[in-house]
Amino acid sequence: MAKDNGVVIIGGGAIGLCTAYYLLQQGVKSTIIDKGEMGHGSSLHNAGYISPSHFVPLAAPGIISQGLRWMLNPVSPFYVKPRLDLDFIAWAWKFRNSCTQENVERAAPLLRDLSTASSALFEEMAKSNGMDFEFMKKGLLVLFRSERGRAAMMEEAGMAHKLGVGALFLERRDIQKLVPETEIRADGGLFFPDDRHITPAKWVADLTRYLEANGVQMLQNTEVKGMVVSNNGITAVRTSDGEIRGEEFVLAGGAWSPEIVRGLGLKLPVQAGKGYSITINRSNRKPLIPMILTEARVALTPMGNTFRAAGTMEIAGLDLSITQRRVEAILTAVPKYIGGFTLDDFKQGEVWAGLRPVSPDGVPFIGRFSRYNNLVVATGHAMLGITLAPVTGKIIADVISGSKPQFDMTLLHPDRFA
Ligand SMILES: Cc1cc2nc3c(=O)[nH]c(=O)nc-3n(C[C@H](O)[C@H](O)[C@H](O)COP(=O)(O)OP(=O)(O)OC[C@H]3O[C@@H](n4cnc5c(N)ncnc54)[C@H](O)[C@@H]3O)c2cc1C
Repeated sequence: MAKDNGVVIIGGGAIGLCTAYYLLQQGVKSTIIDKGEMGHGSSLHNAGYISPSHFVPLAAPGIISQGLRWMLNPVSPFYVKPRLDLDFIAWAWKFRNSCTQENVERAAPLLRDLSTASSALFEEMAKSNGMDFEFMKKGLLVLFRSERGRAAMMEEAGMAHKLGVGALFLERRDIQKLVPETEIRADGGLFFPDDRHITPAKWVADLTRYLEANGVQMLQNTEVKGMVVSNNGITAVRTSDGEIRGEEFVLAGGAWSPEIVRGLGLKLPVQAGKGYSITINRSNRKPLIPMILTEARVALTPMGNTFRAAGTMEIAGLDLSITQRRVEAILTAVPKYIGGFTLDDFKQGEVWAGLRPVSPDGVPFIGRFSRYNNLVVATGHAMLGITLAPVTGKIIADVISGSKPQFDMTLLHPDRFA
């Protein structure tokens, strides 16, 4: 039997849940449909960073040559699987063309503004509705252990200062004073005092509980298989459990988003960027501050009584299989930067894989498709999907209610590559 709803959100990850949250704040009760459990996609066991420090988009000068070097190394943090897949080839071409200084200059102020606004929304959310997702204000330390890393961090410090993002360049002895509980083996680093972190699994569970208790309809284990179109609008989604009608539809399917709208003739350039995390129980959790190990592209996060190492970006399609040697590469990097860890500490760790939805220019797709008058998209956040989830949800709620979002929507436009 067809069911009627106002706003139908496809995908119950960080982005879909936040969209429902901010719609609810405007008095709109939506329906979220997920093919699995709410929050159990990429949003579950990631590094949990809320990072205004990540203002440099993924598509930046130098990344292609670095990527080509990394591709020759089977344990590198970045891997692109060569494939004769037209969507992948088209995406790779757009990505290559976006790796320019102009893209960095265009995207960096926007990413700074979005993530700063989102961080404030996280703080507000953490104080309300009985939520307890371990919102921590510890900052972020980005460590380096090579001359190339030092040069990159100095350049980033300069950019941060220009953009007004707080960043402190520190030598090893200064870092040691900042984190006396941790033995620092890296040469130095950059400290971003305004970064925050959360425990993402607790956050998505809190959001799910809150939304359900406040009348948002949650359809789990229900797969969207297609859409019903009339004139220039969508009238319903076809799911594994029948048709669901609606007035507005929000595409928040993460890395699966292009598949969901393929039948509509829309080509959304998003590729899955697989990453892994390894979580261990650690009651004397040190370090106490999240750290990025620059050369290894590894993120470390203390979360409650656990400690998490995360990393790797594999552009290899919608594949969640775990490549053990890349997981080991994440772990072997840790003792090179800090003391107090051996590989044995991670032996009983829980290994998890997630698929980041990666856009070609490092900026998400947020807004209405021009071709359909009631289809809004919110995806392509790559490494920033947790950081930007609240502000994305708020923008989408504004777009649906007809209010003007406070950001430059042209840079976020879903048709910008069409
Ligand atoms: C190792 C790792 C570490 C990371 N660390 C960070 C970090 O520290 N900070 C940060 O900001 N970001 C981080 N990220 C990125 C972040 O996790 C993602 O950008 C974010 O989770 C994307 O959220 P989403 O809602 O778009 O996608 P998802 O959470 O993947 O949600 C999409 C949902 O859509 C559902 N779906 C798909 N197809 C269908 C369909 N046909 N019908 C119904 N439902 C469907 C899926 O089941 C899924 O639940 C990390 C990612 C990884 C992998």
